[in-house]
Amino acid sequence: MAKIILTGDRPTGRLHVGHYAGSLKRRVELQESGEYDQIFIMIADAQALTDNADNPEKVRQNIIEVALDYLSAGLDPAKSTLFIQSQIPQLCELSFYYMNLVTVSRLQRNPTVKAEIQMRNFETSIPVGFFTYPISQAADITAFKATTVPVGEDQMPMIEQTREIVHKFNTIYGETLVMPDVLLPDNKACMRLPGIDGKAKMSKSLGNCIYLSDTEEDVRKKIMSMFTDPNHLKVEDPGQVEGNPVFIYLDAFCRDEHFARFLPEYQNLDELKAHYTRGGLGDVKVKKFLNNVIQDELAPIRERRKKYEADIPAVYQMLKEGSRKAEEVAAQTLADVKQAMKINYFDDQALIEEQARRFQA
Ligand code: ATP
Ligand code: MG
Repeated sequence: MAKIILTGDRPTGRLHVGHYAGSLKRRVELQESGEYDQIFIMIADAQALTDNADNPEKVRQNIIEVALDYLSAGLDPAKSTLFIQSQIPQLCELSFYYMNLVTVSRLQRNPTVKAEIQMRNFETSIPVGFFTYPISQAADITAFKATTVPVGEDQMPMIEQTREIVHKFNTIYGETLVMPDVLLPDNKACMRLPGIDGKAKMSKSLGNCIYLSDTEEDVRKKIMSMFTDPNHLKVEDPGQVEGNPVFIYLDAFCRDEHFARFLPEYQNLDELKAHYTRGGLGDVKVKKFLNNVIQDELAPIRERRKKYEADIPAVYQMLKEGSRKAEEVAAQTLADVKQAMKINYFDDQALIEEQARRFQA
């Protein structure tokens, strides 16, 4: 069976290092591994509109931001198909049919949606589209016959929901849809990178992010102002590394070679953590090291970005071609689905003849 990737991001803001650690970096590695037959990367504008219906301009502006983030991070349109969700009408049709396979109470149980509803203060005024977005995500994944969905931990319940829909569809209508598997980061720190404010998740909607497109100076300022262990007041004080975002970022991004280059007094992160824990290591020193590590990761991304920013029309053209290609694939899946669901009346000559005989008899 072909190995196919589908994943994407909502164009609700520029992408940040949480996206990079949780998904984007992995996608680029998977793309370069040559192990996948097809890779689809979607800018999920229709999904972004489910909780931004009154702000279409925000979504519109962020399409190009996300596309530039993709290209700068190393996604290559020659190897991966980059496209825009709203340009693939088949996804709406698939969602509409999948809605019959999911109960309201099942959607209400989705922990990510629950948390997001709370975060957005929707209370009882939840848009139906937002409430049902896990179903539309199932359409996105299955339309491309994805076998692998590389995402951060917050997306686990969505993939679970998709798997249930696939199972139910195939049970009722016959083997049609491909069962996808989630691919989480192997590094625990990357699964859900916290915000620079110490909140559980770095998120565009919370404004606690280091963006891939931030300047060197922006990044430095953000890192130097980061939340750390609030009880680590004096350098001599013992500090806590668990739950300390500075150390979680180091867990996510730092490699032993960084010590040789930027902080040769230590061999590796374990030594640095041990010193911090026993006391005598100041936050400023750790933050300066983190800044070097993050700048090292972001430098090539910044460099590539300049090239793509110089030709924006070409980026839109690339997305247009990607969307056309994606639509062809989704159309084939929709045809399979309609056939399985017996709603392909005009393609079914046997049906027409059978009905003709019935009425002649
Ligand atoms: P929004 O607040 O609009 O939902 P978001 O920051 O949650 O934005 P999404 O576009 O919903 O971003 O998520 C895109 C991808 O990035 C998903 O695979 C998600 O798991 C991953 N991701 C988002 N935030 C983080 C994070 N802080 N750590 C790790 N992965 C993340
Ligand atoms: Mg999100």
